[in-house]
Amino acid sequence: METFDAIVVGAGPAGSTLTHALENAGKNVLIIDKTSFPRDKTCAGWVTPAVLESLHVDINDYRQHRTLQSISRFRIGMMGQSPVENCHGSVVSYGIRRCEFDAYLLDRVQSRKQLNTPVKSITRDNGLWQINGQWQAPLLVGAGGHFCPVAKQIGAGPGKHETVVAAKEVEFEMTPAQAKACEARGDTPELWFCRDLKGYAWVFRKGNFLNIGLGREDNHQLTEHLEAFVQDMKQSGRIPSDLPGRFKGHAYLLYGHAQRPLLDDGVLLIGDAAGLAYTQSGEGIRPAIESALIAAKVILNAPDYSASSLQRYSEQISERFGHRAAEQERGFEVPDWLKQPIASSLMRSHWFTQKVVTEKWFLHQEIPPLDLAV
Ligand SMILES: Cc1cc2nc3c(=O)[nH]c(=O)nc-3n(C[C@H](O)[C@H](O)[C@H](O)COP(=O)(O)OP(=O)(O)OC[C@H]3O[C@@H](n4cnc5c(N)ncnc54)[C@H](O)[C@@H]3O)c2cc1C
Repeated sequence: METFDAIVVGAGPAGSTLTHALENAGKNVLIIDKTSFPRDKTCAGWVTPAVLESLHVDINDYRQHRTLQSISRFRIGMMGQSPVENCHGSVVSYGIRRCEFDAYLLDRVQSRKQLNTPVKSITRDNGLWQINGQWQAPLLVGAGGHFCPVAKQIGAGPGKHETVVAAKEVEFEMTPAQAKACEARGDTPELWFCRDLKGYAWVFRKGNFLNIGLGREDNHQLTEHLEAFVQDMKQSGRIPSDLPGRFKGHAYLLYGHAQRPLLDDGVLLIGDAAGLAYTQSGEGIRPAIESALIAAKVILNAPDYSASSLQRYSEQISERFGHRAAEQERGFEVPDWLKQPIASSLMRSHWFTQKVVTEKWFLHQEIPPLDLAV
C-alpha cells in the first residue's frame, strides 16, 4: 500500500486548489477523481473576480486558449414582466466553461493524480485512512462534491434530511445561424426570478457558447418551471428556437441550510462536499476555493490531525461565511421582506436590482477576496 501525507478525493476546484496549496508547502499528496479531465460539470460557469484573484489566475494567459467572457451588465427581471438592464461601468464578473476551468486548475497540480478512479472503499486502520485498499494517509479530505463518499463516511451526505437546490442546465456551442438569432449578449447575463420567488433562471452567453438553466430550492415541478421559461425565452428571441441536447440536472447544498459536519478525526470536507454555496445566489465556486485555502492553512499549522486540532477549520469557515445556525435566509429565495406585490416593483427598480440583487447577493462586492499566504 502506498502512503501519502494526505489524500484528496475529488479534483474539482476545491480539491485541486487544496492539493496545489499543500504541495507548494512540500506535502506528498494524492488526488483522486472518478472521471478523467477535462470533464464536464453541470454549472452556469459564472465566477466572480475574487475567485480569479485568490487563485492568482493570469487573466490574459487564461483567455488565450479558453473562453473567458467579461461581464459588465446584468439583465434582471421576474418571469412574465419586463426586465431592467444595469450597466456597472466596468468588468464586474466573468464567465468560464467548467470543462476548461477545472482542467486548467488541475493542470497546475504537480502531485500524483489518480484519475478515472472512483473511490469505492474507505477504511481506517491505526490512524491511517485506506482508500480502495491501495493508498493510505493520516489525513483524508473530501472534495467530491455533493455526493462525496468522504462526507458519507463522517455521517453527512444525501438523504440526511437536507434541503437541496435542484438545478438543470444546458451548455452548447451555437451555430452561426443560432448565434445570429440569439438576442442574449455575452457581456450581459440574464437573471429571471420565478414568480413564486423560490428560484431563478439564467441565460448566459459566453463567447459562442450559450448556457441556459434554472435552479430552485424545492425540486417541485422543476422541469415544468424550466420548460415554461425556455418557451418564453424562445418566443421573445432571447435564445435560439432549436436548442440541441438535453438539460442536465444536479443537486447541491446552500450554506445557510447545510448541516453537514465539516470535520472529524483525520478528515475534513471542503467545497460542495461540505455544503458551502452562497445561500442567495447558489454561487459555489468561490466558497469551494476559499474553503480549500482555509483548510490548507489549518492543515499546515496543525500539530496533528486530531479533530480538536482541525477544529480551527470549522471556526474559520464560520468567521468567513457566517454561523449556520444564525442563517435565516431561504436559499435561491429572496428574503421574507421582499414578497409580492412589492417584489414585482422592486424587480423593476434599477437601484434595487443593481445595488442589492447583483452587487450584494450575486457579486458579494463587499467581501474582499481571500488572500491567505499558505
Ligand atoms: C446547474 C448549476 C449551476 C451552477 N452555477 C454556478 C455558477 O455559475 N457559479 C458558481 O460559482 N457555482 C455554480 N454552481 C455550483 C458549483 O458548480 C459548485 O459549487 C462547485 O462545482 C463546487 O466545486 P467542488 O470542487 O466542491 O465540487 P465539484 O466541482 O462537484 O467536483 C467534485 C469532484 O469529485 C469527483 N467525485 C465525486 N464522487 C467521487 C468518487 N466517488 N470518487 C472519486 N471522485 C469523485 C467528481 O468527479 C468531481 O470532479 C452551480 C451548480 C449547479 C448544479
